[in-house]
Amino acid sequence: MPFCQTKCTYCNFHTGVVSAARFAPYAEAVCREIRGHRELLQAAGVDWPGRLGRRGVPILGMSETPGTDLIVDTVYFGGGTPSLLDPVHLQRILEAIRESFATEFAEVTLEADPETIGREKVEAWVRAGINRVSFGLQSFVDKELVAAGRMHRRADIYRAVPILRGEGISNISFDLIAGLAHQTKGSWRQSLEELKALGPEHVSIYLLEIDEGSRLGKELLGGGGRYSAGAVPSEDEMAEFYERAQRELRVAGYHHYEISNWAKPGFESKHNLKYWRREAYLGFGAGAHSFSGTERWANAHDAAAYVSAVQGGGLPVEQKEKLTTESALEEELFLGLRQLAGIDLGRIEREYGVALASRFDPLATVGLVRREGNVVRLAEEKLSIANEVFVELMK
Ligand code: SF4
Repeated sequence: MPFCQTKCTYCNFHTGVVSAARFAPYAEAVCREIRGHRELLQAAGVDWPGRLGRRGVPILGMSETPGTDLIVDTVYFGGGTPSLLDPVHLQRILEAIRESFATEFAEVTLEADPETIGREKVEAWVRAGINRVSFGLQSFVDKELVAAGRMHRRADIYRAVPILRGEGISNISFDLIAGLAHQTKGSWRQSLEELKALGPEHVSIYLLEIDEGSRLGKELLGGGGRYSAGAVPSEDEMAEFYERAQRELRVAGYHHYEISNWAKPGFESKHNLKYWRREAYLGFGAGAHSFSGTERWANAHDAAAYVSAVQGGGLPVEQKEKLTTESALEEELFLGLRQLAGIDLGRIEREYGVALASRFDPLATVGLVRREGNVVRLAEEKLSIANEVFVELMK
């Protein structure tokens, strides 16, 4: 759902601020793509997956019940701001999924912004089958929210959470960003304290990304001062914020299971785990990515181009890539190491016919990774510099 109310200064996603009149045709196009996915993918020349993926991992819906079709058990509405849409659109998309696949929904997540939440809307989400809300709250400090160009304020969070709980959403995830302009040790501590007091089941913490893709990133790289660029914390401070979150969330009973993700026991994101475990998934909508186990493909990013392709019976798929053994191996390492459970070197060496000790031993010697038997994981105290470890590994 590539639509937002405004553009946050740090955002590098392909999202647009458009009139609400564009939402209905967009949602209709998504439904049409879902219903016609087999023909569309065939026409796009995508290597259509068989029933099973690698190592018996089922393709498409992820789980498989013997004697039945593949089962779609998780759905993720991401964006953008999917909570902006009239719930009827989300309901129709879920209906299209139910009609097109065998479904047993265990986790249906909607990304939502606090200011878009109202009781009637949430009631309609729950009726449609949404049972998890991922909340883009980013900070509890208004000065930081204003500088980041966010629409909501701290008070909106406190208004929205009781509505979600009251309507029976028992799985809520909060996103925080470490590194927002004006963030200090004290304000970060405040955001963590308030987060813990509200007790979401799941927490994602991202370090501010500084790249050409966002207005703030451009400003920072160009040495400018707009968007409070001068008040963005240093990389060392961001790492310190992340490490504080690691300590505090552990004490508060959250399990750190992926570099940026923590969960209360049993609330790890079933859907997102599939991305990190390289299981197959189908994405629908503008810019949506899919993975069959051997091939990755993506739809046109531009929402208008996507809608007109689907409406005109054309192909929304814009790029596709058959993975080479080498790139599949890189993915195994990169995605595997993002998970704190680590990777099973023995399995990867057997599957890919490679020896990896020479790549990992030097990293273990300098303390960037730990090895216990065949399992290799990033050293916990190095998680805040994981990207540097990945660069070393890929050399
Ligand atoms: S709400 Fe999210 S997707 Fe939309 S502009 Fe802000 S950061 Fe980007």
